[in-house]
Amino acid sequence: MLGHVRDMNLAALPSVEKLSQRLAQQSQLPKSLVTGFIKRQLSPFRERLMAGEELTREEIESGITDALETFESSRLQPVLNGTGILIHTNLGRAPLGHRAAQAVYDVATNYCNLEIDLTTGKRGKRGAFLEEALAILVDAEAATVVNNCAASLVLTLRALIAEGKNEVIVSRGELVEIGGGFRIPDILETSGAKLVEVGATNKTHLRDYEQAITDRTALILKVHRSNFFLGGFTGEPELEELFDLAKTHHIPLVEDLGSGALMNTDQLAPIEHEPRPQEQLGKGIELVLFSGDKLLGGPQAGIIAGRADLVEKIKREPFYRAVRPDKMILTALQEVVIDYLTIKDDPTRIDLVPVLQMLNESPEDLRRKAADLQQRISEPSEIVETTGATGGGTMPKSQFPSVAVRTAKKPDLPHLFTRVEDDQHHIDPRTLRQPERE
Ligand SMILES: *Cc1c(COP(=O)(O)O)cnc(C)c1O
Repeated sequence: MLGHVRDMNLAALPSVEKLSQRLAQQSQLPKSLVTGFIKRQLSPFRERLMAGEELTREEIESGITDALETFESSRLQPVLNGTGILIHTNLGRAPLGHRAAQAVYDVATNYCNLEIDLTTGKRGKRGAFLEEALAILVDAEAATVVNNCAASLVLTLRALIAEGKNEVIVSRGELVEIGGGFRIPDILETSGAKLVEVGATNKTHLRDYEQAITDRTALILKVHRSNFFLGGFTGEPELEELFDLAKTHHIPLVEDLGSGALMNTDQLAPIEHEPRPQEQLGKGIELVLFSGDKLLGGPQAGIIAGRADLVEKIKREPFYRAVRPDKMILTALQEVVIDYLTIKDDPTRIDLVPVLQMLNESPEDLRRKAADLQQRISEPSEIVETTGATGGGTMPKSQFPSVAVRTAKKPDLPHLFTRVEDDQHHIDPRTLRQPERE
């Protein structure tokens, strides 16, 4: 009897074949994917029916249809960033310039000289061009690249600590959480380093560092406060002083810079000065670590630059093999580095790197683009003064004036992200990309 009721219940289950036939037609996905998805969705419904829950076929079909829509929309695809936040981690951080993206396309769809020396036809060094160009760009003895800045920190720590010499000195004012669970103390632990905290949250003196140095000290680590700021009664030693101290004790001085602005971004927009790798290296930091896809405006990558012997040691660490980037990332970053060097020769070429171009946008251009945008949306709207930000855990204090199209209802543009303030949608044309804004 019970079995009979259960079977009657199960009769509400739709036919996989029929449902996938219908849903595959409505979606852009291969039918096999739709069928597989439906099958996986059906099993919890089957269990609920078996448990005696009353569900109609319509309910089940509409539940699966909605789930498929959500699944399909989770496919990675372009969206419109109208938030005015340049490096939005949830929106994929920095967009790549067209020239660099085209180079990736060419390398990806062909064979390439990844580890071949084209002049001799013999085995060559992977990333050799990029490493040389990067070193020239940031004025460092040497440079190398890994998958992201977090990996560059783990790798650097692993390479520079040793048995019985694994203490890493960090100021208490720099024990930051970057986001996504990335906390400096945890990173140190994963790397096998022993954290030696010095100073207080607001103030760390040179003597705090000095007193913490022992013969087990592997390095002094500075972490740039990239996503928060410290104000009031604060203080820390000058980098030059810290460098002298580290040098006297033959201890490397390493800085995790995070965002790594390669240009004086404060000259492009009215924002705070973000320390550049070349600047920090000039002050005596021996190794700087920074991201490829924050203010640099390239692909996701972590860059390590500085003293040649240290970079060499890092590349010899076995873990390097686990975090080295692939040919597409190497190509993208290589081309962005070339773009920077081109801009150095000719500042009018700033359009090559979207992040720089967007930062540099003039109020007149923004107003013109806002007016164009107004023409393209049907909702009643007005142009208002607003503020933009770099975002993505960079320059938390820096908000710069911008312009936005304000509407009460979100305009019907595909996958548009707006900034909602006072229940009104604000669309900043600064971060809308071509060709959408043309
Ligand atoms: C963002 C950031 C990181 C992490 O960089 P990813 O490239 O996202 O791994 C590390 N350190 C600092 C200081 C940062 O700001």
